[in-house]
Amino acid sequence: MEGVRAKVNRHMTVVSDLYKLLPSVDTMLQQAELVRLLEKMGKAVVKTAIQTRLDIARQQIAGDDEDFAARLRSPNFDKCLAADIAAGIEQEFTSTLRPVFNLTGTVIHTNLGRSRFPPEAVSAMEMAANECINLEFDLASGKRGDRDSHIEAAICDICGAEAATVVNNNAAAVLLVLSTFAFGREVLISRGELVEIGGSFRIPEVMQSAGCKLREVGTTNRTHLKDFASAIDDNTALIMKVHTSNYEIRGFTESVPESALHELAGQHGIPFVSDLGSGTLVDLTRFGLPKEPTVSSELLRGADLVTFSGDKLLGGPQAGIIVGRRDLVDQLKKNPLKRALRIDKITLVALVAVINLYRDPERIGTRLPALSDLTRPLAEIEYMATQVEEGVRQALTGLATVTVEPCKSQIGSGSLPTELLDSMAIVCTPQAAKGKRDAALVALAKAFRALPRPVIGRVHDGRLLLDCRCLRDYSGFLEQLQSIALDKT
Ligand SMILES: *Cc1c(COP(=O)(O)O)cnc(C)c1O
Repeated sequence: MEGVRAKVNRHMTVVSDLYKLLPSVDTMLQQAELVRLLEKMGKAVVKTAIQTRLDIARQQIAGDDEDFAARLRSPNFDKCLAADIAAGIEQEFTSTLRPVFNLTGTVIHTNLGRSRFPPEAVSAMEMAANECINLEFDLASGKRGDRDSHIEAAICDICGAEAATVVNNNAAAVLLVLSTFAFGREVLISRGELVEIGGSFRIPEVMQSAGCKLREVGTTNRTHLKDFASAIDDNTALIMKVHTSNYEIRGFTESVPESALHELAGQHGIPFVSDLGSGTLVDLTRFGLPKEPTVSSELLRGADLVTFSGDKLLGGPQAGIIVGRRDLVDQLKKNPLKRALRIDKITLVALVAVINLYRDPERIGTRLPALSDLTRPLAEIEYMATQVEEGVRQALTGLATVTVEPCKSQIGSGSLPTELLDSMAIVCTPQAAKGKRDAALVALAKAFRALPRPVIGRVHDGRLLLDCRCLRDYSGFLEQLQSIALDKT
């Protein structure tokens, strides 16, 4: 009979043999997989990863991990370990930002990065990233220049404005305006316009952080000119109008026309500012889209300043644009906050490229990806749906029934939520037994999101809808479907 001591001794010998089988860091550094990564990532990264993995291996030996011991004894252990380490490094250094298929049916989706850019903007961005550029340098005088100078004239030309400036996003534009003209003072705004946009932009909170005091005027559904007139006093700095982008009040409603607010503000020597949110530069009804106020019409109606986003219906990069009276824009430019909110060079060159496309309004609907998605002919969307229908059906055999059905897309980013666009969807209905359907639907949506290029659909009424309006690369979509991981038991 083997004594306890002998047993322990035998175990120790076996274990120390196993430790001896572990490759050294230097041996691992010579494995082909890791040599390749050495070139790409540098020695520090690869060495650390090897050491970390070998530490784990030692713990596996100490913990009597029998599976691991068996693998360690196999002749190709080093190679397998190298592949393992390489995969770990690749994963660690892969960006978590990835392209996705936006089949949500919301075209300008804030959580999915809003607008895609036209090629003109992409190549301008590449140039600005690769080269030094005259961002704030006046080539004629050799002196310091102004980054707005590259875009101001084009914006003014298209909107019919006296002056323009650009900042980081529209939230920043509103913040800059409020802080410049109403710091420590009061801003009048109709109660019906105290909105929250996209969860994080709430007009009352923006007012507060800009250091001004909000004075609500009128009621939620009706506000009259006399409500504004009686609220104005010496402490009033600004009258503000906010385009209630993402909701609509219907029925017994009344709001004050811009021209009347312009006149009232003028009488008191204060600016009247309109936050348009998703400002469009052209009348979108010409492309069959719902009517949205344009920036130029807002100026014509009497706004002294108009603020709007670069990446909503405009179809460009994230930016905030402020247009209007020269004297007011000059004051905005002098605010030190402007420096903190300034637009960066990559965004600026992209915005210039997009704004320039607007000089040819006839073709803007096809040249800007956001607008071409929004105006995509139904027949083309249906064609996309029929191209992928069978592939989806096969991938989901036994799990869900798959049909092609009409659906409605929305513009997104708070624009025109009540105006929907006719579209076509692949509709997946889980076949699970009653009581298990909700879980099956969640699993289905999750499996689509787990694909190499995640597919983001929309769950509605117990079904998963894949709206084909924004589907372009249908063969890429089909190819990866084969790897969808679904539990078919
Ligand atoms: C979207 C929106 C904003 C915020 O614009 P961002 O570009 O997202 O910063 C502000 N005001 C209105 C009315 C909006 O619709």
